[in-house]
Amino acid sequence: MKKEDIVIIGSGPAGLTAALYTARANMNPLVISGNQLGGQISITNEVENYPGFPEGTTGPELVELMQKQAERFGARVQIDEVTEVDFRAGSPFHLKTYSDEIEAKTVIVTVGASPKRLDIPGEEEFIGRGVSFCATCDGFFFRDKDVLVVGGGDSALEEGLFLTRFANRVRVIHRRDELRAGETLKSRAMNNEKIEFVWNTVLEEIHGNGKVQSVLTRNTNTNKQTKLETDGVFIFIGHYPNSGLFTDQLEMDERGYLITDSHMMTSLPGVFAAGEIQDQVFRQITTSVGQGAAAGMMAERWLEEQA
Ligand code: NAP
Repeated sequence: MKKEDIVIIGSGPAGLTAALYTARANMNPLVISGNQLGGQISITNEVENYPGFPEGTTGPELVELMQKQAERFGARVQIDEVTEVDFRAGSPFHLKTYSDEIEAKTVIVTVGASPKRLDIPGEEEFIGRGVSFCATCDGFFFRDKDVLVVGGGDSALEEGLFLTRFANRVRVIHRRDELRAGETLKSRAMNNEKIEFVWNTVLEEIHGNGKVQSVLTRNTNTNKQTKLETDGVFIFIGHYPNSGLFTDQLEMDERGYLITDSHMMTSLPGVFAAGEIQDQVFRQITTSVGQGAAAGMMAERWLEEQA
């Protein structure tokens, strides 16, 4: 059994910032990476709204820099996943990963959120064969092809714009006739000649033969169904929190987001949370970084108070 002062579950901006702060406080934090080192930003191409980078940066670059900075002060990043936790008896908290059993005096949960699915026939079947939740990862495979993007938020437009580098045509399918996305992305997308909008429309089925060939849509006003031929379906309809590991152990809201107080502490003293696992409002790299810093500072203070 490994004994640690502090374990940070997750390695996105919140986790790596909590690692930086606790490392600089000499706590020698252990970060368990989760299945994607860097979390969602590691698959984000352009980052234009993170201060300090006037020309913008990329998600992978930011992850690498954040990890290096935390490691410089003694943080350890373990490429591994937490598979089970037992927090019920309080501190020290018990965690199991694929390779270790760990006892931690404090824990910071930064496990983030995952893309929501449409839950329609064909979606699961064609993942990796035309259905994707990540333009940065899969856009390259759609050179000179026709793709659909589902959603009307910032993610849909940002990823749709990225796809115009490869695809011939990008049709954004939105269930309403008004975008949720902010003005900057909205006007960029509206002015891009490769992007077309299909309003008041939902996807009902995805069809293909080994790979995606067409979809069945329904107009939400007229109920008319239409078959659209396409090579790819990129789905960006929001996220759900990855809180399954903590069911019945940490308090959550009705959507599964962890509940934290103003000091980033969860319902269990000694367990803190930061980033998208407890934030469904801001969901920015900048805000996750701020929450990670706060959680790191509060975890350090809490541990000191226990001594
Ligand atoms: P979002 O803002 O929640 O938008 C989700 C979109 O998907 C909405 O247009 C929604 O339609 C649609 N949708 C949801 N469920 C659906 C379903 N079952 N079928 C069809 N359509 C569905 O999610 P997001 O775009 O991932 O953005 C999340 C947060 O991250 C936001 O705060 C956003 O500002 C931020 N973000 C910022 C940037 C940036 O600043 N560059 C980039 C990406 C994300 P309705 O509009 O009808 O609800």
